[in-house]
Amino acid sequence: PEKAHYNAYKEAVRVAKGELNVLEVERRQRFSALLADRDIRVVYQPVVALDSGRIFGYEALSRGPEDSFFANPLNLLAFAEKNNQLYTLEKIMREKALAGWTGEWRKQVLFLNISPQIIYDPAFHPDEINARLDELGIRPERLVLEITERTGIENFQAFQRSLETYRRHGFKVAVDDAGSGYSSLQAVAELQPEYIKLDLSLIRELDQNPVKRILVETFLTFAEKTGSRVIAEGIENSEELTRLRKIGIPLGQGFFLARPACPPPALSPAAVRHLACPAEVTSQRFRP
Ligand code: C2E
Ligand code: MG
Ligand code: MG
Ligand code: MG
Repeated sequence: PEKAHYNAYKEAVRVAKGELNVLEVERRQRFSALLADRDIRVVYQPVVALDSGRIFGYEALSRGPEDSFFANPLNLLAFAEKNNQLYTLEKIMREKALAGWTGEWRKQVLFLNISPQIIYDPAFHPDEINARLDELGIRPERLVLEITERTGIENFQAFQRSLETYRRHGFKVAVDDAGSGYSSLQAVAELQPEYIKLDLSLIRELDQNPVKRILVETFLTFAEKTGSRVIAEGIENSEELTRLRKIGIPLGQGFFLARPACPPPALSPAAVRHLACPAEVTSQRFRP
């Protein structure tokens, strides 16, 4: 308590000097409390086979306390990184996501996000995840690690080595937010991920924007040649769903299909209605 008092005093001095603003101090306090209480919830969003409407798996998405700045996981992650607490936060996120993965859901595929900075962190070892999977009775092949290319892949070789390690442990790998970052198609190709998740910015206005359409089709062709599967993120309406099914995208995610929730939700009634009609072009490409 004395040390906490002293820290609060030091912060007050820095605020007075104008080195630190009050909002930042409040956030730091909230963040410390949040970490100490492990106050993270996890919601799960279905990944759906677009031809059959079958649920293929679920992505775990973390949430900080409701109605706070930290409700948004991107704020949570950015704040943790800035304050050198990313590793601790990520560990809590992983543990919570796996702890919530109980009962019948264990037979489904679980998509788990990992920050690229963690990939490079020598403290992070897949044994940690494997030990938890063992306890929970989940097979490692059911786990897909999602790594975003949003921030660019800085150290490609280190990145690739990590992915190889995860594969040796039995995990699958997904490149998240593909088409949004700076890494080239070649970089994605060399990583040979099992899944390529197309960023939602590519899905938006797909009908009106021919460049996006070419990109989506290129990713699909490319995935088929390299043995990856494409997942379209952020499908928000029936038009987008129809378009993606016509192109032959095998897997999708989005509010129209189901919003993230806990316990893991079923398909939305609108999606059930939509997918009950036969797809105009049934994807031949999906290998269940
Ligand atoms: P992401 O992995 O690309 O996750 C997809 C985001 O899009 C999620 O936002 C999801 O709620 C949102 N989304 C899903 N369907 C739709 C849709 O139809 N429309 C729109 N507009 N959005 C949709 P969320 O949950 O806020 O997560 C944001 C990002 O935070 C994630 O992007 C991921 O990079 C990161 N993140 C979330 N949870 C974790 C975690 O436990 N660990 C790590 N490392 N990162 C996480
Ligand atoms: Mg993701
Ligand atoms: Mg994504
Ligand atoms: Mg995204």
